[in-house]
Amino acid sequence: MHCAVCGKEFIPRSSLQTSCSPECRREFTRRKERARYHNDLKHDDAWREKRRTYLQFLQEMMQADPDLEKDVKAARQRAVRKYMEKIRADPVAYEALKQQKREYMRMLRDDPEKREKMLEGPRQWYRNLTQEQKIALAARNQQRKHLAALMNVQTELIKRKEDDK
Ligand SMILES: [Zn+2]
Repeated sequence: MHCAVCGKEFIPRSSLQTSCSPECRREFTRRKERARYHNDLKHDDAWREKRRTYLQFLQEMMQADPDLEKDVKAARQRAVRKYMEKIRADPVAYEALKQQKREYMRMLRDDPEKREKMLEGPRQWYRNLTQEQKIALAARNQQRKHLAALMNVQTELIKRKEDDK
């Protein structure tokens, strides 16, 4: 029999065993939980309400406690980074994510109403910034642009070197 997670062949000790090792079993359970979340919980109104209440509570706590806010934001960034690393390591998942992004961009392009709605939040956020914050933001964006340009040049150089070989 083949492991449902890694595909390796193994001899099951019982008819219920679907994965080859404790690691794969944990991964199997994780996937099942995830599927459950996507299929049921996400669309469950009571659960959504609970989650909304929790997020609001957390938001209020964070407003009252800058240290907590810093911790929560750092944890979220770590989670996103970890997720992206995992996706990038998996060519199929990475391609699927890129495709999703392309479709989303197309949807935004073809649906002005939805686009306006999407931009409402960020616009409101920008309007509420102080003049100093706006200047700092513009400087940071400029820096990012330079960095991206630099990365492009580097990639181009590496590519040419590879082509010359
Ligand atoms: Zn396995």
